[in-house]
Amino acid sequence: MKLNNINGNYRVIVVGAGHAGCEAAMACAEMRLQTLLVTLNVDFIAKMSCNPAIGGIAKGQLVREIDAMGGVMGIITDLAGLQFKMLNRSRGPAVWSPRAQCDKVLYSLLMSKLLQTKKMLNILQSEVKRILVKNNITYGIQLITGEVIHSEVVIVTTGTFLNGIIYLGESYFNGGRFNEKSSTLLSRSLLDDCGLHLDRFKTTTPPRVNSYSINYSKLNSQLGDTDPTPFSHHTNVLSWRKNLKQLPCWLTYTNEKTHKLIKDNIHLSSINIGKVSSKSPRYCPAIEEKIERYPDKESHRIFIEPEGYTSNEMYLNGLYTGFPFYLQKQIVNSIVGLEQASIIRYGYAIEYDYVNPIQLDSTLEARTTKGLFLGGQINGTTGYEEAAAQGFMAGVNAGLSILGKDKIILSRSKAYIGVLIDDITHKGMNEPYRMFTSRAEFRLSIRSDNADLRLMDIGHSINLISDKMYKKFQKYKTTLKQLYINDKFYIKKNYVVRPWSLNKVQEELNIYKKYEGYIKIQENTIKKLQKNEQKKIPEYFNYNEINSLSSESKQILNKIKPKTLGEASRLKSITASDVAIINIYIEKFQREKIIKKQ
Ligand SMILES: Cc1cc2nc3c(=O)[nH]c(=O)nc-3n(C[C@H](O)[C@H](O)[C@H](O)COP(=O)(O)OP(=O)(O)OC[C@H]3O[C@@H](n4cnc5c(N)ncnc54)[C@H](O)[C@@H]3O)c2cc1C
Repeated sequence: MKLNNINGNYRVIVVGAGHAGCEAAMACAEMRLQTLLVTLNVDFIAKMSCNPAIGGIAKGQLVREIDAMGGVMGIITDLAGLQFKMLNRSRGPAVWSPRAQCDKVLYSLLMSKLLQTKKMLNILQSEVKRILVKNNITYGIQLITGEVIHSEVVIVTTGTFLNGIIYLGESYFNGGRFNEKSSTLLSRSLLDDCGLHLDRFKTTTPPRVNSYSINYSKLNSQLGDTDPTPFSHHTNVLSWRKNLKQLPCWLTYTNEKTHKLIKDNIHLSSINIGKVSSKSPRYCPAIEEKIERYPDKESHRIFIEPEGYTSNEMYLNGLYTGFPFYLQKQIVNSIVGLEQASIIRYGYAIEYDYVNPIQLDSTLEARTTKGLFLGGQINGTTGYEEAAAQGFMAGVNAGLSILGKDKIILSRSKAYIGVLIDDITHKGMNEPYRMFTSRAEFRLSIRSDNADLRLMDIGHSINLISDKMYKKFQKYKTTLKQLYINDKFYIKKNYVVRPWSLNKVQEELNIYKKYEGYIKIQENTIKKLQKNEQKKIPEYFNYNEINSLSSESKQILNKIKPKTLGEASRLKSITASDVAIINIYIEKFQREKIIKKQ
């Protein structure tokens, strides 16, 4: 039975039930903190605003990491997925990345149901208009109705909704997503009450077409894996595989006719008519941006992907666009297999406010306002997985701060999530940030297959991984170790530790043995880096006294006040020589302190 919130006070309030908000709220509720999740429309919980797919290159690693620590995205994906593929199988395991095409309605329903069953979690449909702050500490929220609700922490995860403007060719109107209102008052409050600086980004989504209007005989099908791998450690692989009914995706290409249409009308795209001036994701550009950027390329791939088991809508992955509706139709119909395709939803561009995450510390708490955490697309990232990873960590750290426990900062050598949060909070960004394997310098050690070995201890320590699950994990780890030391080690016939089957043990061992040499080199580098990484910078360290630092470097160091030399080294515009100089001054500072004491 749910606990009744008698006095209307909560320990945690999460604003927004997108991918970040759901993870944050679940983590806090699991940590037994009374949590309120406020969202604009409860029918759209965990809505997939764009592509109904989870995972993919580097993103799949993020989902497995969230799952290993007790998050929920992987569990829901396994239940709502309609096609599963391990990408990059032909390359090394370091870059294997699981991906699932999902039934988007089912995904949202299942997440909603899961949240509703949580004892310590209440959900409320409303708009948050203000974050309440006194003496730079947050103490709750105010709703559009005027109602005030108090809490110890507030986690804001409002995605593309802050001052969102939707563009369809020359037309534009307010909206956080198509047919959903944008959030303007909260933007103002983040600025005025919380002292956060806001900036603008944009992104686009493609048209969806009716499956019955596609000529599949002209297209190549793209099938899922015959032995699919689930995302979650909680999924029973055997029965899951037995019940999974996979649907095909399809592949087609743009052509000369498509490119001519786009080039002749480029001035009509909302991206190019000066209305949308902000930056879009470089790696997920609109088709008109691709044609301008690669003028010599004769065709671009378009994947045609189902949106659900019971839906006839097909998503045109690669045909993101800001063109007016009549041109979208011509562009779609110029493509092989889509000559007669009828559009169910038009693509559009959206421009929105984001908070440059350089204003947050490594736990995702705002430097300006104690108790205010931010996660997801509001932090300038793009993608469901990036959002969920931040939402999860913001939730965990908000919870730990209430419980008076040490917060968790994952290092770059421990997890992709560590790389993500380290990058965005130290370097900031000037275009929407998405995860890539190339961003992770230790990708050989932080693979999708070993997320559990890297992170399940943490999940268990914060009570998000049950004792029962953890016990099985320990048995798996022990078996791995014993087999590593002695490959003749006898495994009892009754070894059943789902999901860590004997095949999994063998696969993990093979991967480790194959890369052992490289992994050991990487581990040594990590150890060396950790020395610097952990070298503390004294709290009242005066950068202004160091003449050899540039004024730009001093400005950023004074603003961020890094706690360690490692943190300083990753700040935007801080060079290796700056780090060496700071190191010398730390030693000088410490020597002088000792002399003063004597
Ligand atoms: C048009 C479009 C195109 C996109 N294209 C891509 C793409 O190409 N590739 C990609 O990876 N990602 C894309 N995305 C982004 C993807 O949808 C997001 O990365 C992801 O959904 C972000 O998750 P989130 O939890 O941060 O926010 P969202 O999923 O946006 O959820 C935000 C939640 O906050 C709630 N909310 C907002 N304001 C308030 C308020 N004041 N009070 C209460 N609740 C509030 C909303 O109701 C919503 O539930 C696109 C999104 C859109 C809209």
